[in-house]
Amino acid sequence: MRKSDRIKLADLTLKALSEAFPDSACSLDSDSPERLAIRGILSAQCTDVRVNITAGELFTICPTMAELDALSEDELIRIIKPCGLYKSKAKSIKTFAHLYCTEWGGEVPADINALMKCPGVGKKIANLIVGEIYSIPAVVVDTHCKRVMYRIGITDNTDPLKVEKDICEVFPESSWIGLGHMAVDLGRSFCDSRNPKCDECPLTEFCRKRVSKK
Ligand code: SF4
Repeated sequence: MRKSDRIKLADLTLKALSEAFPDSACSLDSDSPERLAIRGILSAQCTDVRVNITAGELFTICPTMAELDALSEDELIRIIKPCGLYKSKAKSIKTFAHLYCTEWGGEVPADINALMKCPGVGKKIANLIVGEIYSIPAVVVDTHCKRVMYRIGITDNTDPLKVEKDICEVFPESSWIGLGHMAVDLGRSFCDSRNPKCDECPLTEFCRKRVSKK
């Protein structure tokens, strides 16, 4: 599709998503920047509901990053096990807490590249952190966003970094943070990976992959 047509498609998409999901927001709890970042690390291949529960337990035991830094890896693994991928997530969380307490001087950096030096913090999580905490325009391309953008025709790619580039090319920068959340809402409400509800979907008029059952 030509870029000019993709820009028109992006305009239609943004309008329809904004009307359908006016209150769209991040579904991870966000009581402080550093806690949101830890929840972001826990969210890999896990539901936000599960992450919020497990993180709540973790922060009851370790309210501060210094306490998290001092916690043994075995104990951390025991607490975060319900979120899956617990060994690599424990390493990431330990490193994040240590960097926060030392190199970062008790602050979450507003810098995607600095954040990505922490293992387990990829572009998706770094974008989430800088967007939610510092309102720096960045789109979070999770599994829902990737699927929706591919189906409607904004991208022909499936690699998240390429999808992100395609999105950023045609959607206005001011929409990037909210767009990720609205795409997640659409994915959860209508655009299921196996059983999309295309007849009810707010993007059905212009989606190239719509499946009509009417
Ligand atoms: S019309 Fe169907 S395939 Fe297209 S975005 Fe909506 S639910 Fe997904």
